Amino acid sequence: MGNYVNGEFVEDGKKTELVSPADGSEVATVILGTRKSALEAIDAADAAFHRIWVKTSIGERQRLLAKLASLVQDKSYDYARMEAANTGKTIRQSTLMDIPLGISHIEYFANTDEFKFSREITHPEYPDTTGIVQNAPMGVIGSIAPWNVPFLMAVWKIAPAILAGNTIVLKPSHHTPVTALMLARDIQDAGFPPGVINIVAGTGSEVGNTLCTDDRVSMISFTGSTQTGKRIMGMAAENLKKVTLELGGKSPNIVMPDADLDHAAKGILFGIFLNSGQLCESGSRLLVHNSVKEKLIKSMKKHLQGMKAGNPLDMETEISAITTRDQLKKITDLVDEGTTQGARVVFQRDIVEQVPENGLFFPPTILDDVTQSMTVAREEIFGPVLTVTSFSSAAEAIEMANSSKYGLASGLWTRDMKAAREIGSQIEAGTVWINDYHLLSAAAPRGGFKKSGIGRELGLEGILEYTQTRHLFLNEHESDFDRVAYGLIMSDE
Ligand code: NAD
Repeated sequence: MGNYVNGEFVEDGKKTELVSPADGSEVATVILGTRKSALEAIDAADAAFHRIWVKTSIGERQRLLAKLASLVQDKSYDYARMEAANTGKTIRQSTLMDIPLGISHIEYFANTDEFKFSREITHPEYPDTTGIVQNAPMGVIGSIAPWNVPFLMAVWKIAPAILAGNTIVLKPSHHTPVTALMLARDIQDAGFPPGVINIVAGTGSEVGNTLCTDDRVSMISFTGSTQTGKRIMGMAAENLKKVTLELGGKSPNIVMPDADLDHAAKGILFGIFLNSGQLCESGSRLLVHNSVKEKLIKSMKKHLQGMKAGNPLDMETEISAITTRDQLKKITDLVDEGTTQGARVVFQRDIVEQVPENGLFFPPTILDDVTQSMTVAREEIFGPVLTVTSFSSAAEAIEMANSSKYGLASGLWTRDMKAAREIGSQIEAGTVWINDYHLLSAAAPRGGFKKSGIGRELGLEGILEYTQTRHLFLNEHESDFDRVAYGLIMSDE
């Protein structure tokens, strides 16, 4: 699979064979783009922005997006199969969640009428004048994505940016570029003008770095780790670019004593074990009222015992693989550090016999007796590991939830909806799910407080991130205030 530059597939770069973390099978041979392909993509995006895209109407952009959604829909099974093979997530998840959600998110941007190019204002100081406030596009957007949800990530980066009138160069992760490159084929078939959307898979140090340092890229939309995010912001500052950063998390899932415990148990397991915990907003810290802790853990163990391990490429399998060997090592090391620091393994599913020998797996694990100072409670593990800490009052739960440097998401389980609103409004996180988890809507802005990010993705706020404001001041006739103002320097006339 080549990179998509200026409406064509180019084969400049390093041929790389990708094998599946699910079972070691071959997935695809991709060309990892170079600095040269990144520069050509920026040339194309810059030309397409000035010559074509900035002049198109919202309606034309939405028509092309709608066409794209329908082309992806026709091949949704192929996308789901390749997404699972490349990332090691279960095909069950890619078929039933990632791909259909991505399609519905393209459709959202194809249909939303919330975004407007402009609005009229009056100026209270100058009654005879009017103003137009415009949401003008930024220009060329450089988008950099992580490896965990590549198809959704490509949709979230591309659709709002081009709806707002920008052109884009997307760099998917070099570990998982397959479905973004498949999307390029459908972008070509949908009829987007060459150069409007370019996709160059490659490493961060080569392609990512080129996007961050080239003057023609006006904004970087980055999703990835907090550590890389800081580096990206540094490069963007050097080159005075706008940045949005969607970063890591250590999200709490708070269970109040009045919660429906069986519902909460299932929601908490979904919150941490979907995608084997490799989701930025995974609910990795269980904070549970001490009066219901034992009952909740018992219920979680029962449900966990039933989760089906096997080859993630079989539709029945419910446990995803770990996408990279480095990530598997990181999870293993952090869990070892946790137990050394005093955390107790209260549950670990034995999956060795059921999973493919050549796959990368970490067993679903629950660590109890975790204190706020332990590394496993503070650092993002990005794996299937749930830490458990108990509290005795709502105030203590809020304090524990907010004690993290991160602030991406949170869950809250209670039957008392008044208390839910009050507690939810005190949690320092971009999303708070109440009696639910992980359910994403294209209409709802998502992003992080604190070290989890800057800016928002999705929703109207997400589209507006890709714009800059222009104010047109309109004065049709000379007026009294003109005479007063000009008199400040021309009083004799
Ligand atoms: P990462 O930070 O290692 O890499 C992210 C992207 O940045 C990749 O495309 C990588 O090639 C690129 N990159 C790396 N170094 C670069 C550099 N010097 N210059 C330019 N680009 C560079 O993250 P990852 O390991 O791919 O993904 C996991 C992380 O992503 C986790 O921390 C997770 O929480 C986070 N994440 C956040 C969200 C969110 O919406 N907040 C969503 C998914 C993942």
